[in-house]
Amino acid sequence: MSALARIHPAPYSHRVDFPAIPAGWAYLDSAATAQKPQSVIDAVARGYDRDYATVHRGIYARSADMTLAYENARGTVARFIGAHPDEVVFTRGATEGINLLAQSWGNANVRAGDRILISALEHHSNIVPWQMLAERVGAHLDVAPLTADQRIDEDALIALIGPRTKMVAVAHVSNVTGAVADLTRIAEAAHAHGALLLADGCQAAPRIAIDLRTLGADFYVFSGHKLYGPTGIGVLWGRGELLAAMPPWQGGGAMIETVSFERTTYAPAPGRFEAGTPHIVGALGLAEAVRYVEGIGVEAIDAHERHLAREAREALRSINTVRLFGPNDSAGIVSFTMEGVHPHDIATILDESGVAVRAGHHCCQPLMHLLGVPATARASFAVYNDEDDVARLINGLARVRRIFG
Ligand code: PMP
Repeated sequence: MSALARIHPAPYSHRVDFPAIPAGWAYLDSAATAQKPQSVIDAVARGYDRDYATVHRGIYARSADMTLAYENARGTVARFIGAHPDEVVFTRGATEGINLLAQSWGNANVRAGDRILISALEHHSNIVPWQMLAERVGAHLDVAPLTADQRIDEDALIALIGPRTKMVAVAHVSNVTGAVADLTRIAEAAHAHGALLLADGCQAAPRIAIDLRTLGADFYVFSGHKLYGPTGIGVLWGRGELLAAMPPWQGGGAMIETVSFERTTYAPAPGRFEAGTPHIVGALGLAEAVRYVEGIGVEAIDAHERHLAREAREALRSINTVRLFGPNDSAGIVSFTMEGVHPHDIATILDESGVAVRAGHHCCQPLMHLLGVPATARASFAVYNDEDDVARLINGLARVRRIFG
């Protein structure tokens, strides 16, 4: 029985909270984006309806209230990850968070001959911004290999950290293999060499309890839309002293203290990194999503998803044409291929059976290259999935086999 089933006795399902999931549809693409509970939809609707006004500018009461709600949302997110609100920068998502870091921190701290260390399983958004920085300043990008079960080979990664390494940037949870990195261990090794650690928490934030006071990372990013929140809002967390020393990356309203034609002075973090009118209602929606997840308990969600991932792995293993990727103890993400069938065909036939999986390179082309496949099919689990969804996936794959012989 899953942890959630124990907490919410039969008939277990949080599916009722999600109006966009009709009965009989197995939505197994939450690693791409999670569906939204009604409470988040309501919070967004309220934000644009009854409560709407701008923030940080208006003198009138509605704007002052909205400013309070926006900053309270920051506080809610900060509490969720064990951070101080001043260390939480709202971004468009994880991608923007990493670009912000590579430009602001990167331009100020990385010189010709320095090294940035990533792993072979990174998402393009944790590769390309570092590559662009390396090209800009003449730095080198090092890539840590993987173990046979597609985890980051942490011994090899640690061995690659040297005196010129300035940043180690790795996924907390892989969006392809579900492998969970030991951030504390990696942080210790990075710090021993004077390097910093950025963790890409896109896949971790919705499914793993995060306490930034103990994780050891120096920067952490994630996207709201994978955490049952709206698109267009995400978080860059950074240690206070690091953010304080970082120059702005975009100029405009809201990020300044004073402006004249001769000289501009900048607001302290996090405002310094939030130029322009922010995604006000997105922040409210994200805070509501955090409350939703907290109401269930992220540990319980993790246990529930791992249970479903284990079940899926066991069932997939019994299909002899299936190749499975990722460690057995992965978080709730399972990638696989089927001999003689392109993953796009798998996904198309599964779709006809009411099962939505992702098929493609998952924005991890270097990883696909390493695995020797053009693409994989990926089933990812969330709070609204249950054993029936796993059964639908396996039944759908039996149909794929029948069609392809
Ligand atoms: N990193 C990982 C591990 C991801 O899974 C994703 C989204 N697929 C991203 C980064 C980028 O997130 P976004 O597109 O929301 O910025």
